[in-house]
Amino acid sequence: DGNPEPSITWLYNGKELKENMYTYTQLITDSGDGSVKHGCLFLDKPTHINNGNYTLIVQNKLGRDVATASGMFMDNPFEPFDPEGIIPVPTNKSDLDVTENPESRVFVVSVAVGLAVFTCAFLLIMVLVINKCGQRSKFGIHRSSVLGTEDDLAVSLRFMNFGTSPPSSDEDSGLSSFVENPQYFCVQHIKRQDIVLKWELGEGAFGKVYLAECANLSPDCDKMLVAIKTLKDANESTRQDFQREAELLTMLQHQHIVRFYGVCTDGEPLAMVFEYMRHGDLNRFLRAHGPDARILEESKMPPLGQLTLPQMLHIAAQIASGMVYLASLHFVHRDLATRNCLVGEGLVVKIGDFGMSRDIYSTDYYRVGGRTMLPIRWMPPESIMYRKFTTESDIWSFGVVLWEIFTYGKQPWYQLSNSEAIECITQGRELERPRTCPKEVYLLMQGCWQREPQQRMVIKDIHSRLLDLVKNPPVYLDILG
Ligand code: ADP
Repeated sequence: DGNPEPSITWLYNGKELKENMYTYTQLITDSGDGSVKHGCLFLDKPTHINNGNYTLIVQNKLGRDVATASGMFMDNPFEPFDPEGIIPVPTNKSDLDVTENPESRVFVVSVAVGLAVFTCAFLLIMVLVINKCGQRSKFGIHRSSVLGTEDDLAVSLRFMNFGTSPPSSDEDSGLSSFVENPQYFCVQHIKRQDIVLKWELGEGAFGKVYLAECANLSPDCDKMLVAIKTLKDANESTRQDFQREAELLTMLQHQHIVRFYGVCTDGEPLAMVFEYMRHGDLNRFLRAHGPDARILEESKMPPLGQLTLPQMLHIAAQIASGMVYLASLHFVHRDLATRNCLVGEGLVVKIGDFGMSRDIYSTDYYRVGGRTMLPIRWMPPESIMYRKFTTESDIWSFGVVLWEIFTYGKQPWYQLSNSEAIECITQGRELERPRTCPKEVYLLMQGCWQREPQQRMVIKDIHSRLLDLVKNPPVYLDILG
């Protein structure tokens, strides 16, 4: 607010900030004569390279005012001295002077190399010390804290639990032996220099998840958007688990399983590259397209339309299709829930996570016996009581996923505490029919919730029933519900 109209300049870390199409002053209101302005410095998708102090200088011929704010957009996901991790920043004149001077370049390089050697030596010592102390931690550092040691019989890491449901002999195809010998699958390696991070998408159990642009992934397009899952604090053991998980993920290829492109292991942090699903996880998507979307704090955008019955059926059929595939590989997911599915362009839904997103959805998990966290609200009685996870227990969870879809992402048994929910499930009480759920779909849910695992519907039948319903959606009037 100033009269005569003041000029606005910005400094970034004390140096003049040159505005461009990605960083500019955005005025929201202007009094007309320019004396009162409201606005902000707009940064388009800032990353860690934009962290720093931003100073606003406002002046006219009568005086000047200065204020500084510090901007912290995200942590540097790369090692500080990893030259490939540094995203090129527009250099200003003084930086050019330094880099163009060969002596100072030699000096800078020597210091960087010295520090890198020191860091490596330090990390090596730390790794040795940690291993010596016997800290047992897999790529699922938290895996044991999630599933508990008794569940470690699962052959692989995290939730890659082949072998928990032994294949029956007639189905024991060549595929199963492939599954049990994932070394047959060649994990794609992606160069770090081909990846340019854009911004953070979320926090996973093992590290941050970023949106990035990746070059040379496919012959048809030179750059594409990908989601990068980073693994923080890798040691020798977590590295091995990481490699093993990558082999398993390489093997899972289906149109309703999120596509895994490969790993990036040249430098730190270790990263896995997945296809980017632009609408994020299905639970959030359902809530954003439900009746409560308006009051949800996160929806600052105009409220989106509510999902229709055919759309809900389409979502369910796609998850069922992914589950048919997993069941054909004797893969037991153990944590099927809408928070572990992802939504892409055109309402494409894929099973996207074989881990537990416990950070954002921590209330969906129940801690038992200290370290074990279980998604009890999605589990059948036999899994709750005996920790028995099978293809049939996945069917039960699929029924709960159907219920989530038709309640626009409500938490199952939301009105009950964890111990009350356990009591209800083990005593045989069923989730109620959601208001918008046709009888035909509720029958499917009930088919998934048979107490006897062998009496539950099989996923192939559920899938084909859902496809029929997609083709001929039942006529349904909410007022009759
Ligand atoms: P973790 O399996 O390590 O717990 P998640 O898969 O849950 O990590 O990832 C955390 C968040 O990152 C998700 O809730 C989702 O919003 C986002 N995310 C993960 N993978 C993708 C992807 N392929 N595309 C878009 N967003 C993703």
